[in-house]
Amino acid sequence: MRFGRERPEIIRPPSEWRSYYLPITWGCSHAGCSFCRWYGEKLRIRDLEEIEEEIRALSLLRNHGVYAPSLHPVAARIAIEWDGRRIFLQDADALAYPYESLVEILKALREHFPSLERVGSYATPQILLRRSVEQLRKLRELGLGILYVGVESGDDLVLEKVGKGVRSEEIVEACRKVKEAGIALSVTVILGLGGKERSREHALRTAEVLSRIDPEFAAALTLMIVPGTPLEREVQEGRFSLLSPFEILEELKLMLENCDFSSCFFSTMHASNYLPLRGRFPQEKGKLLSILEEVLRRRDPGLLRPSFLRAL
Ligand code: SF4
Repeated sequence: MRFGRERPEIIRPPSEWRSYYLPITWGCSHAGCSFCRWYGEKLRIRDLEEIEEEIRALSLLRNHGVYAPSLHPVAARIAIEWDGRRIFLQDADALAYPYESLVEILKALREHFPSLERVGSYATPQILLRRSVEQLRKLRELGLGILYVGVESGDDLVLEKVGKGVRSEEIVEACRKVKEAGIALSVTVILGLGGKERSREHALRTAEVLSRIDPEFAAALTLMIVPGTPLEREVQEGRFSLLSPFEILEELKLMLENCDFSSCFFSTMHASNYLPLRGRFPQEKGKLLSILEEVLRRRDPGLLRPSFLRAL
C-alpha cells in the first residue's frame, strides 16, 4: 500500500538517534504482545515503488541540494539534519518486508548512498525463524548491519502470558541465525514483565537465555503500561502486579549476576528505566553490580529517575 502523506511515529532504539528513518512497514507482523503499543495493529507493507521514490528524493536533497516536493516534510526535516551515516528501516518489524523487495531497497540505498555505514531494523523472532541464514547473510552483504530483537523474557511462562508467540528456545535460535549471518545483534529484555509473581524466574531465565544468545549489545527496559493494551486491563483488574522501583532493581541485579557474556555492551540507558547504567561485560560486570548494590542499600528514591520522566 502507499503511505502517501502518512508516516508511522518514530520509535527507534536509542543508538539510532542520528539515523534517517525510512518507513517500509507500519506496525508489527505479530501484534499479539499484551504490553505492546502495536497490539492488534495489522502490519502494513509500503509499496516498493513509493519507497524507491523516497530514496531518490532523499538522494536529490542530500547529494544535489534539490528538494523534491514528493518528500514528506517530516522526512525532509530529518534528511537535513541527518549525518548520512545510518538508516533505520521502520517500523516495529521491518524485516517482515517481502524478502526480494527488501533486497531491492538495500540495493537502492547502496546505489544512492555509497558511503552509508549501516542499515538497521527491528526484527521479530518469528520473522527471523522464517529467514534462512543465507538470506540474512545476503542482506548483510547489502548493508544490513544491525538487527534489534525483543527477547523480553527468557521465562516461557512469562512469554506465554504476554502473548509473545514464541518460546525461549525459538528466540535463542532466531538470535543465533543473526549472529551466524554476521549481522550485529542487539537484544532487549523488559524488567518487571513477570510481575511480582514471576520476578525471580523472569530474572534467572532471562539471564540464562541472554547468556546463551551472547549478543554484542543487550539492553533492559522497564515495563511501562501502555493505555489501551490488554496488560493495562490486567493491572486495573488486579490480575497483574507491578513491581516497585526498588523491586525492579532487585530483579535487574539478579539478572546481571547470572549473565555470562563473552563480550557484550549492556545498557539500561533507555528512558523507561529508573537507574541508567551501562558497561561492558565481562570487564565491568562487577562495577555495575556494585552500583546496584549501593543504590539498593541506600533505598533513596532521590537516586532514581522520577516516574514522570520515564518514557517509552
Ligand atoms: S513482537 Fe514486538 S513489536 Fe510485535 S507486538 Fe510483540 S513486542 Fe510489539
